Amino acid sequence: MRRWFAPNSRACDVDGAVRSVSRRCGKPTCHCAKPNDPGHDPQVRLSRTVQGKTLAESFASPSAFHNAQAEVQEYQRWQRLCAEFVNISERICRLRPVGKPAEKWSAEGKKRLLRSIKKSRAK
Ligand SMILES: [Zn+2]
Repeated sequence: MRRWFAPNSRACDVDGAVRSVSRRCGKPTCHCAKPNDPGHDPQVRLSRTVQGKTLAESFASPSAFHNAQAEVQEYQRWQRLCAEFVNISERICRLRPVGKPAEKWSAEGKKRLLRSIKKSRAK
């Protein structure tokens, strides 16, 4: 997605998703090793795609998380608006007439034009 939009918008746009991730300690005997266990101390992560790679970001404070969440929402809002814009311009293209047939010189119009050119040169 190109980022031609909203340079002044409060939240910068981030292509990503906020999700909660459960931490698993990795010990096979621990309760977190069971498939449906909620794990330890679920954490909020923002996963985002940067140059084809998915990164997961964690947040030190609730306000850092809320900022990131706002950025993601801003991005999604812009994506919706862009999709709408493309949709509308496609509709306009379809409604637009194909165009007038090419205009041709008429004998009379040409004569009149040549006369006016001669006149303006004569001055
Ligand atoms: Zn564990």
